[in-house]
Amino acid sequence: MSLLMRSRKGSRGIEMIVDLRELADAIKRCERPLLTGHIMPDGDCIGSVLALALLLEGQGKQVMAVSPDPVPLVYRFLPGIERLAVGAPPAVFEPDAFIMLDCSDPERVGPDLVKYLDKPGVTVINVDHHVSTRPYAHYNYIDPGAAAVGEIVYDLSFVLGASITHEVATCLYTAIFTDTGSFRYDNTTSGTHRRVARLIDQGVSPAEVNTAIYEERRLESIRLLHAALGSVELNPSGQVAWASLTTEREAALGATDEDGEGIINYVRMINGVEVAALFRETKPSVFKVSLRSKRYVDVSALAQEFGGGGHPRAAGCTISGALDEVVEAVIRAAETRVAEDSDGRRA
Ligand code: 5GP
Ligand code: MN
Repeated sequence: MSLLMRSRKGSRGIEMIVDLRELADAIKRCERPLLTGHIMPDGDCIGSVLALALLLEGQGKQVMAVSPDPVPLVYRFLPGIERLAVGAPPAVFEPDAFIMLDCSDPERVGPDLVKYLDKPGVTVINVDHHVSTRPYAHYNYIDPGAAAVGEIVYDLSFVLGASITHEVATCLYTAIFTDTGSFRYDNTTSGTHRRVARLIDQGVSPAEVNTAIYEERRLESIRLLHAALGSVELNPSGQVAWASLTTEREAALGATDEDGEGIINYVRMINGVEVAALFRETKPSVFKVSLRSKRYVDVSALAQEFGGGGHPRAAGCTISGALDEVVEAVIRAAETRVAEDSDGRRA
């Protein structure tokens, strides 16, 4: 329980503890919720946004669901995906609530949606599970013990009295399946498996979801993986490994953002490696840095050193500069954390 941070920004900016019932009450009070996930969307934010949209629609609400960035191809099989608007919602839609899912930082909603954070008459609700998230909304429900926001939406559905249909179950299963690394990461709990068992009982096919997400990659994505693996380097102790990709290289391969999904896992897979980093140039001299750890380093804290955030085993940040300078700064900081954290082996 010590990690739980369920709080609400009070009238004087005082944060107060709330429980799932308070979150449900805040959501019940709104009529026209605008739902969003984060930029560069993943399975958890897309699955959770769609599931909550379907649940609230079932309760008679006028729901608008958006994704700040286009939905990666691998998630287009999800039920309800066609009604997810990309970017800003239509101007005619006037929300009375802005519900942000899986956004560890308010900026993660992207430039088109950030205006809803302080629009008069709009209640801002933040539902998240990142340990680095600080309360920034009117209502904040942040549970770092949840493996995915999908787990929170699953629990919320019962408090809302909304039924989990086959469509909702597929979205929630996808959210939980992807954020737990197919139930392999240490955020996976018995509670995760109990929830997922109920979703399978609702008709979800684990094999179909797995095939759609992990067995249908574009050829360009495999070529990008090849390019990234060719750039892998190890520090002298063999505990920190990294790979890099420039915009030039990615453009030459015809790769898109989403083609880089999962590359970082191969870098972490090297035996003896504790911290893996992937540096992807998104604009000239701007690098999206993905960080992963295997057993004990808190990469969320490492990412926060560079203005980012995330989870203890998966985090990220964006850094501007020349590639070798950016790499050096991050790898040096990672080496320091490997040395410091190895004593306690906690994080
Ligand atoms: P990825 O490396 O897959 O992009 O991100 C891993 C995790 O770190 C995700 O949970 C993501 O939300 C978080 N993350 C990635 N980049 C950033 C960032 O720039 N800021 C924050 N606050 N979190 C990030
Ligand atoms: Mn998530």
